[in-house]
Amino acid sequence: MLQQTQVDRVLPKYREWLDKYPSLKALAAAHPDEVDSTWRPLGYNARPKRLHSIAKEAVNTHGGKLPSDEQTLRSFKGIGAYTAGAVQSFAFGRRAPILDTNVARVLFRVFIGYGYRKDTVTQKRLWTLSATLLPRKNVYDFNQALMDFGALVCTARKPRCLICPMSPICEAYPFNLDHEQVVQHRS
Ligand code: SF4
Repeated sequence: MLQQTQVDRVLPKYREWLDKYPSLKALAAAHPDEVDSTWRPLGYNARPKRLHSIAKEAVNTHGGKLPSDEQTLRSFKGIGAYTAGAVQSFAFGRRAPILDTNVARVLFRVFIGYGYRKDTVTQKRLWTLSATLLPRKNVYDFNQALMDFGALVCTARKPRCLICPMSPICEAYPFNLDHEQVVQHRS
């Protein structure tokens, strides 16, 4: 729900969704039209359909629960590398990397700096970085912190480089400063 949508818009919908569908079984049993209308107006309308189909598959083949290993998670239609990592890390506390837009941006800027971020080779490199950096413990906190850091400090349009604790090791610093920040940086 949070992908490309602000938290304050998501919160009421998130609560409504969980009230209506407190379990995968409840979601699987719901009528597709009702699931669609509950999701609106969040956008990205393929997502409720995918969630519905994942819930049905979980009920039909996994006793109403999501599996915790990557291979089985990725066998579900609609679960890719990011979602599998997020489910493993956030739902099961497993040591699994994630690479959403925020995390990819942070890792790209800090460790690579410049170039095109979305090509296959770079994406592979970012996944490797995300996995290599994982701590042995508290992976949930680490992944959440990385996502929040991208959402609040290393933002897409106006990264807050001047207050950023990563600036001494960041490959994109100070080139990511906008004009106003460059003036402050030099003064
Ligand atoms: S210095 Fe700027 S570009 Fe680098 S990680 Fe910090 S906010 Fe992002």
